[in-house]
Amino acid sequence: MTLEFDTSKISEAIMKAFESEHPEYAIPELPDELFKMLEYLPEEFADETEEKYIEALMLAAQTSYENGLYQFAYVQYHMLFMTAVYYAILKVSVLHEEELKKALDYLLKDRYADFWKETNTKNGKLYFGSFAVISESDVFMLLRVVGLDNSLLGELQKLVQERNKYAHANGQLQLTSDELFMEALNSYNAKIQRVVDLLKNDLIVFYKKTISEPDFYDPEIRAYLDPDEQIIQEFIKEYSLSRIELNWLRKIRMSDFDGCEGDDEIKTLHGALIHYYRELTQDEYQPFDDPYVLYKYKNNAAEFVERELEISAYECGKEGGEFPVYECPECGEEQLVYDAEAGRFHCFSCDQNFTTDKLSFCPNCGQLMYNNGESVCDDCFEHALNKD
Ligand SMILES: [Zn+2]
Ligand SMILES: [Zn+2]
Repeated sequence: MTLEFDTSKISEAIMKAFESEHPEYAIPELPDELFKMLEYLPEEFADETEEKYIEALMLAAQTSYENGLYQFAYVQYHMLFMTAVYYAILKVSVLHEEELKKALDYLLKDRYADFWKETNTKNGKLYFGSFAVISESDVFMLLRVVGLDNSLLGELQKLVQERNKYAHANGQLQLTSDELFMEALNSYNAKIQRVVDLLKNDLIVFYKKTISEPDFYDPEIRAYLDPDEQIIQEFIKEYSLSRIELNWLRKIRMSDFDGCEGDDEIKTLHGALIHYYRELTQDEYQPFDDPYVLYKYKNNAAEFVERELEISAYECGKEGGEFPVYECPECGEEQLVYDAEAGRFHCFSCDQNFTTDKLSFCPNCGQLMYNNGESVCDDCFEHALNKD
């Protein structure tokens, strides 16, 4: 027998002991507010370097905070905020392409041509970083296209002025308290919500229009046959959707698509978006609770196990594990899936659900049986009777 040490547990224990003796060195717990900006940033990245950039900023803000370096955490959070603002403006460039070009022309004047140069775009397209060449105070003006008013503009510009006070190497640390930092965090989080709210109605209209186009919904011509892939790759990733934005879209009613050409396919795609959001936000997500998933794999238990429970029939065959698809004691079809982690069964043929106190495996032959007080299944029982 070998002893295995969980080294992370041990170092955790050492840290705890150290902290209780030296409370002055205790690492402060990270406040939820520090992670809020992530909800305004994309969930899927087409470009790995963009994802790495955001991760690095987030890590820097956390590390600064943990070390009590609030002024640095603040400057890093400001950058995360600006990144979220740039992503919002990038969406304006999709939703209102011509108006945004006009606004850029007006703002940049003789620098307009440079803005579209190869060095400021990616594969000929704008990306969030394209907007970083515009001064931070001016860039908010582009949100005029979606109705930014003077009062919000003034508040956004104030955030930049405040940051300028703290970001210069003047040899002074001015933002030294947790309370001041939290105040700044809350201010950023409230402002970004107001910024993205400007896009809300247009984005909902754009989404409905996009998934109602045959190029998007028709399985014969769309990019991905699988509805989940189609919605993730061609919409969520393509338009850099954030969690906050997905939350608006998932609330669109299925009945809004009633009677459209291709409404069955459109509803399946909308279901895929709702499913994506649910999986993203539910910590205790269980595929058996998700009607979209149950519908998608109707009479296809094996694929459900492969893709949703991530158990591979091939690996089971090779390594001797059990592939959890069984004959359903209710309908007799080989469509009953057992999720051992959740202790639940679902039949993809007759739609029955069972828990482990209802069903168990016959200790004699291994087939599923109802728990009705018998120690073996009916077959084994009969078999035993006939033998005597
Ligand atoms: Zn069944
Ligand atoms: Zn049996």
